[in-house]
Amino acid sequence: RKFGYAIVGLGSYATRQIMPRLKECEHARLVALVSGTPAKLEQYGAEYDIPATHRYSYADYDRIRDNPDIDAVYVILPNSMHAEYTIRAAQAGKHVMCEKPMAVSAAEAEAMIAACQQAGVKLMIGYRSHFEVHNLHAMELARSGVLGATRIITSEHGFNAQPNQWRLDKPLSGGGSLMDIGIYSLNAARYLAGEEPVEVSAMEFTDRSDPRFATVEDRINFQLRFPGGALASCVSSYTSNHNTYRVHGPDGWLRAEPATSYTDHQMWVHRDGKTEQVRLPTPAKNQFVAQLDHLPEAIMAGTEPRTSGTEGLRDMRIIEAIYQSAREGRAIPLTA
Ligand code: NAD
Repeated sequence: RKFGYAIVGLGSYATRQIMPRLKECEHARLVALVSGTPAKLEQYGAEYDIPATHRYSYADYDRIRDNPDIDAVYVILPNSMHAEYTIRAAQAGKHVMCEKPMAVSAAEAEAMIAACQQAGVKLMIGYRSHFEVHNLHAMELARSGVLGATRIITSEHGFNAQPNQWRLDKPLSGGGSLMDIGIYSLNAARYLAGEEPVEVSAMEFTDRSDPRFATVEDRINFQLRFPGGALASCVSSYTSNHNTYRVHGPDGWLRAEPATSYTDHQMWVHRDGKTEQVRLPTPAKNQFVAQLDHLPEAIMAGTEPRTSGTEGLRDMRIIEAIYQSAREGRAIPLTA
């Protein structure tokens, strides 16, 4: 039988991106719903043919333990709820897929990893770009040496944030643009470099008179120093639109734009004085389907998911150092 996911949190990303894609999965299917809103359980339960026995409120959540159809939960809640709902799922004996950012602190991320280890369940973070063909191709090109050793990475992510949402409420989001969209700049810099940064410095600019930014930051740019000699310049913004990265070496460069979007990725490579657009065949599975199928595949293979809790924790530790650097006005060394 196919691997059964319970979706926790029926918001925009869950209902518009993930739930429709579960129908296309080779190894996975939607078996249960968890929501605080009875009308959503009714609506999506009917739409996806989920019986009343497989619909849960947050108060009922721990009863997923008794439902053998549920193999894993997929936590798609506001960031500050990720840790609690991951840990409760692990304690109920269920594997976990959790959205990015993994949590709102490194300490929470560590507690999530420990809970899953103790329960003997797998933990995977929803870093969909690791399953998207252009991003996989960029990783391969950057690491293959065809551009020469990577010297400079630029990675820019941002959008103009709409007012009045949990993303702008620090107790729920844990932070501003960096927690939401800037994490793509960070994660891409790391997967393009193919190694872990050893130092970070950051600078923030937030207009505190803008009612959107009473509790969270707007722009926070950061630079990463990698041990192999690459420097990354990263943009994180809630007041300008960006979705691009570049990798430069002595022998050429690659540019992706949009780089980490849901669809319509484009990429160019410049070598030997020529710039060519990279045209990749359409894969059998898009990034969402490949990500959703990966957790059952890892479980069947007895391996760690490609984007495990450890991958999420690494970003959380660097995010904390980015905030510290911006606050203290100095570079922060990073330890592995
Ligand atoms: P959303 O606001 O659309 O959905 C959040 C859901 O949580 C809603 O159904 C809401 O009812 C529920 N919720 C429960 N308790 C809540 C509370 N106290 N306050 C507010 N909402 C509460 O948000 P979203 O865009 O679906 O984001 C959810 C998660 O998914 C976030 O962690 C976000 O970072 C992540 N996300 C990831 C991607 C991606 O591409 N991987 C894209 C979008 C969102």
